[in-house]
Amino acid sequence: MLRKGNLFVISGPSGAGKGTIIREVLKSTQEIEISVSVTTRESRRGEVEGVNYYFKSREDFEKMAEEGGFLEYARVYDHYYGTPKEPVLKALDRGENIILEIDIQGALQVKKSYPEAIFVFILPPSMAELRQRIVSRGSETEEALKLRFASALEEISYIEKYDYYIINDTLTASARCLEAVIMAERCRIKKDVTELIENFKEELE
Ligand code: 5GP
Repeated sequence: MLRKGNLFVISGPSGAGKGTIIREVLKSTQEIEISVSVTTRESRRGEVEGVNYYFKSREDFEKMAEEGGFLEYARVYDHYYGTPKEPVLKALDRGENIILEIDIQGALQVKKSYPEAIFVFILPPSMAELRQRIVSRGSETEEALKLRFASALEEISYIEKYDYYIINDTLTASARCLEAVIMAERCRIKKDVTELIENFKEELE
């Protein structure tokens, strides 16, 4: 019996450590793959096309959006970000678990179009720590930094729309929490359990 994969949507303020936690989980499990988003923002040092993002022009992004190529997309801090639809839906059909690391606007869109997704919110241990993490990245202009920090509180107010939250105090503990969520969801009873029972019955006949 081929079980459909689970779609995990991970959000949280910039600097909360979503990416680091996800990378840590990916190191220790074959259970999950990350969806690579399309963005119109410039690539940062060390980022690789097709690994971190697909970097596209505004025109190409808009064309893809018009053609219905995104599962969700949103404007985040002056740039567009979107999740390519087809590769994600196909992977789920093949039984693979997929992670989307996307902002709250995008997550709310996924909640509408793919309600069976599992929503996980990553919180920083404190706002002071969050500020420290954003500053130490050093990749933002002063203005962009202010914008990101101001958005953080607003973003946190959406936490109740999510199924799980993880306070990212230490990386190891947070990664373990996310792995636990992935495992728990694998064991959740869904419609396809009827097929499983049917198979058991058939075996006995
Ligand atoms: P960054 O520019 O730091 O890589 O990402 C900025 C924000 O965009 C983060 O909150 C990240 O989660 C979000 N983001 C990245 N990819 C996507 C996407 O495909 N869709 C949406 N809605 N947000 C995204």
